[in-house]
Amino acid sequence: MALVAGRCKNFGGCHYADDRKVVEADDGAFVCPGCGAPLTPETPHGATTPRRRGRRNLLIGASLALAAVASGVGWRMWCCRNPGSHGPSFDEWISGDPPAPELESVRRGLAERASRIAALKAAGKALGTEHGLLDPVSGVGLLPDDLALLDAENRDRRDLYAYVTAHVDPPVTYERAANAFAMRRWREWPRR
Ligand SMILES: [Zn+2]
Repeated sequence: MALVAGRCKNFGGCHYADDRKVVEADDGAFVCPGCGAPLTPETPHGATTPRRRGRRNLLIGASLALAAVASGVGWRMWCCRNPGSHGPSFDEWISGDPPAPELESVRRGLAERASRIAALKAAGKALGTEHGLLDPVSGVGLLPDDLALLDAENRDRRDLYAYVTAHVDPPVTYERAANAFAMRRWREWPRR
């Protein structure tokens, strides 16, 4: 014996019927607990009614459509200023790094070194080049630590330029990417 949901149809003679209430009764004695009249099964053998199923499908469909629209909008805002483009534009790379998990360590390295690199540049101990890299200046007392710092900086910059070259849309050459970073992001070239 199992509990089955049903409705009493004894309208006018039973408050369960008048309130349009769904009641539960044993499927072996499927009668209204209020008046004893036979119940009409609400959901025959646990199946969803076509109407309810339809409404559920509609809900699922609506949320899927909403999710598709939302992700489409997000993608377009992030990636494509010009129609037909499939990746971040070069300008977006110059002004700030679009999301790229592969570049996470490069990004972290550049950020961690930023203040020490700025100090070396301000002290005239490192000079930017048109190739987007930093050259150590000789005869200014650079310490081994400073040289290691510049090496690490240049390594990360090369990785960044290589990645941008491979992923930017429309494509640019490595040299052009590196030079544009030197001029527009690092502002190290041309030297002032
Ligand atoms: Zn009843």
